[in-house]
Amino acid sequence: MILDLFSLKGKVAVVTGANTGLGQGICVAYAEAGASVIGVARRSCAETAEKIAAFGGAFTECIVDLSGADAIDKIIEGIENSYGHVDILVNNAGIIKRADAVDVTEEAWDSVINLNERLVFFLSQTIAKKYLLPQKSGKIINIASMLSYQGGIRVPAYTASKSAVMGMTKALANEWASYGVAVNAIAPGYMATNNTEQLRNDAARNEAVLDRIPAGRWGTPEDLYGAAVYLASAASDYVNGFTLAVDGGWLAR
Ligand code: NAD
Repeated sequence: MILDLFSLKGKVAVVTGANTGLGQGICVAYAEAGASVIGVARRSCAETAEKIAAFGGAFTECIVDLSGADAIDKIIEGIENSYGHVDILVNNAGIIKRADAVDVTEEAWDSVINLNERLVFFLSQTIAKKYLLPQKSGKIINIASMLSYQGGIRVPAYTASKSAVMGMTKALANEWASYGVAVNAIAPGYMATNNTEQLRNDAARNEAVLDRIPAGRWGTPEDLYGAAVYLASAASDYVNGFTLAVDGGWLAR
């Protein structure tokens, strides 16, 4: 039956940045859809765990600072110590640093590119090599951005990294689709999370953003539930290399 295609029963999902915002929402959606979720985060995922425990879902946290050189090894250790298996990887953790282009430091540039771009590639590579390609099935979902399409204002490293995410989603899909491993991305629009707090607190920018969103409101983590489950499930098995915008119509303007 069609709704069965959306079920994640029996699947194991690894989600980075699982303690807050969109990553927390994706963990909850996957657990509701029946997956066992490994939440990777720098800090405690107590709130995420509580939300999932409320409906009896399965969630394990894996505390890792993703900016560390041993981050990928620690994630693999977390997987091996829990389910020993992965079907779905969501590369969600990301940072944004706002400054005029003329003031961006090398340190700020490198920290954004390292987490938002380099880690997305090498974590995908490791999970694909160790689990998804040998088992000839799996889903990788990268979290892109409106700035995968547009230039943005005062966030050049973020724009560079998120444009790279959209490109690498296509590149990896081309290599791995024939192994039954789908790589796709979600490009959230302007969502009310920590990532946009500064923007929402700036009255003029807040109004300018809202003015351009046809849906007339900021998005919420819940707005991503459908797209995240779809791209992780058998319902999207012939979808490869695509970036799905969930943006209240922002890109349509
Ligand atoms: P957020 O700041 O709440 O989430 C970012 C997550 O990344 C947090 O869980 C944080 O702990 C984690 N993280 C950051 N640095 C880390 C590190 N060194 N080690 C481990 N974890 C680390 O904001 P969010 O909006 O939920 O962002 C999630 C993703 O969505 C990001 O990739 C962001 O770029 C992207 N995104 C957000 C929006 C938006 O409007 N909010 C729009 C487009 C894309």
